[in-house]
Amino acid sequence: PETEGATWYKTVCRYCGVGCGVMVAAKDNRVVAVKGDTENPVNKGLLCVKGYYLDRIMNTEEGRILKPLIRKNGQLTEASWDEALDLVAARFREAIDQHGPDSVGFYGSGQNLAEETYIANKLFKGCIGTNNVEGNPRTCMASAVAGFLSTFGKDEPMGNLDDIEHADTFFIIGSNTAEAHPIIYSRITTRKQTGKDVKVILADPRRHRVADIADIFLPFRPGTDLALLNAFAQVIIEEGLHDPDFIERHTTFQDGNGAITFEQYVAFLQDYTPEKVAPITGLSPDDIRAAAREIGARGRKTMTLWCMGINQRTVGTWLNNAIYNLHLLTGKICQPGNSPFSLTGQPSACGSVREGGGLSHLLPCGRQVTNEQHRKEVAAVWGVDYTRMSDKVGYHTMEMFRAAGDGRIKALLISCTNPGHSLPNLNSVRASLEKTFLVVMDAFHNRTTELADVVLPSALWCEKEGIYGNTERRTQHLAKAVEPKGEARPDVWILLEIAKRLGYGEYFSHYTSNEVIWEEFRKMGGGGTGYDYAPYERYKQERGLRWPVNDKQPAGTTLRYVEGDDPFVPEGAGIYFYGKPDGKAVIYARPHRDPAEVPDAEYPFYLSTGRILEHWHTITMTKRVPEIMKGAGEFYCEIHEEDAARLGIQNGDLVKLTSRRGQVVATARVGGRAVPQKGLVFLLMHDDRTERLANFLTNDAVDETSKQMEYKVCAVRVEKA
Ligand code: SF4
Repeated sequence: PETEGATWYKTVCRYCGVGCGVMVAAKDNRVVAVKGDTENPVNKGLLCVKGYYLDRIMNTEEGRILKPLIRKNGQLTEASWDEALDLVAARFREAIDQHGPDSVGFYGSGQNLAEETYIANKLFKGCIGTNNVEGNPRTCMASAVAGFLSTFGKDEPMGNLDDIEHADTFFIIGSNTAEAHPIIYSRITTRKQTGKDVKVILADPRRHRVADIADIFLPFRPGTDLALLNAFAQVIIEEGLHDPDFIERHTTFQDGNGAITFEQYVAFLQDYTPEKVAPITGLSPDDIRAAAREIGARGRKTMTLWCMGINQRTVGTWLNNAIYNLHLLTGKICQPGNSPFSLTGQPSACGSVREGGGLSHLLPCGRQVTNEQHRKEVAAVWGVDYTRMSDKVGYHTMEMFRAAGDGRIKALLISCTNPGHSLPNLNSVRASLEKTFLVVMDAFHNRTTELADVVLPSALWCEKEGIYGNTERRTQHLAKAVEPKGEARPDVWILLEIAKRLGYGEYFSHYTSNEVIWEEFRKMGGGGTGYDYAPYERYKQERGLRWPVNDKQPAGTTLRYVEGDDPFVPEGAGIYFYGKPDGKAVIYARPHRDPAEVPDAEYPFYLSTGRILEHWHTITMTKRVPEIMKGAGEFYCEIHEEDAARLGIQNGDLVKLTSRRGQVVATARVGGRAVPQKGLVFLLMHDDRTERLANFLTNDAVDETSKQMEYKVCAVRVEKA
């Protein structure tokens, strides 16, 4: 066999936020096999189809960027590293000198290693002096972060994936867990099959694979889920399923104006009785009541899971708050199996961007750019003068790309993400990208590299080592198994070279390895921040550790905010939400509000977009896997059969979808693995052909708190093409 004489390396899947452990066999500088890591507690040896075929993306040169490229006479032309890096540095320096630090920006990724985010953050925030540092977690997790911060005062979940094996009821809302987090779904199905009386409630406008195991399915009208969640709270209190003692000891109440009482919250909920919410959501009062009773049932443990259906909304933060309300009202939190669990899309959205502070308002380990003390603490570790750091929040993602279009941003560096395909209102984003000096660091060509002025070849997955942090606070080490293809280099190397050529070499010359970077990042944690990590060397040995990890909890923390487990909970406190000054979580009265765009006579359908199991985002990697393309190479939009019949559309017909922002052509799928409700069209985000880019249609309206975009609801017209 090919693995004879090969060396096996312990790493983590390149793709999603589940963070499955992967073993890679390499021989003669080639990946010869990949298998699930049976010792990793996340996946216990299982992999989904994307992980199973990881070797294919490592062994192909199709679409790989193998040399630096510079645009000359309109064409991307091969160049030396020196030529490309000197050009990048010269153009960034020119912009900074002539137009100030805020005329440049960095757009990173939840697929960057923690070390990559750390170096980019230091370069831009610490040395150049701009907070124009963003990342694609703004598009997927910003509302989750804002939800955590407003309710608990600290980001990331208190629970973990072990909760699955303890839960009696799974409430899944705005998540096609079966396809987007398949190994988590596999653990849920095992629990349902082997546990006693385990129930699943699915709330989603579209009947997808999770519905196959649901005991209660609530296909609510798109954009009405905040009303539904409030109705659950109303029923829970009305039927006495709440826990007054827990509420008294561990919570306070607020609305948009400030503190309110429990009684005022109950009065607010009177607008959300099942009878009042039924016509808003299109559900029956009985179904709403049945679900609320199951979620709140005494003596049963409830785990709620949600993802982009909740976060990618103009009320995303409020929806996150409303989910926590259910767990806080019932006291079903901070116990094994009682767990509100926010699912993360990307493999290191948490570990790299959220914990690393890779957004325009953040600094590492929960710090804020607007806080002088925080800037001082970070500057001290970075070894830079803190007065060099800006106290102004940088552009959030949509604003950053608008700024690139109207001349406020003159030069933009993008790493490991494909905004020329993935951002909403894409016509305007692509027009902006053509106007700025655009530098893209990536492994494969994509719809953004085609717009770039300079393309820098990045090392891919196990061509480099580093740290990822998954959806359950698990920090894991990825080993290097092979050398990079062609002239590709790790993003850390590229960023250090750019920093040096910009004149900041003295601040970066000590970063001789990823371990050195990690050990410096670790100094940002500790000291009561709650972000305590282990030494790099330990992650190379362990199958990940859930932070906080410190002397009190050397094996990591299972449940945050719980005495005896979380090292930051004071003795005798039991449960203590120490992110808030009074140790109490906040239950918010959040009123239902319509999405930014709803159907009307001109655009009569709702549109939602999303993924399927086999593919990853903009398919730059998964389309290189022949087995995946053979089985799932067709991209389509799903239409309800009655809508299709009314419009004369048959399965396989080409249809034209038009929104206020653009138009795409798609192949109609009538019936299949998922079916949207009547009046809703669901379009896969994967197709990378020009006339089929889903985001020409989507809306760039943002949540006012989190600045996350409303990908999941907009209005379109549907016609036979
Ligand atoms: Fe990779 Fe996610 Fe699949 Fe696990 S579930 S193998 S992390 S893509």
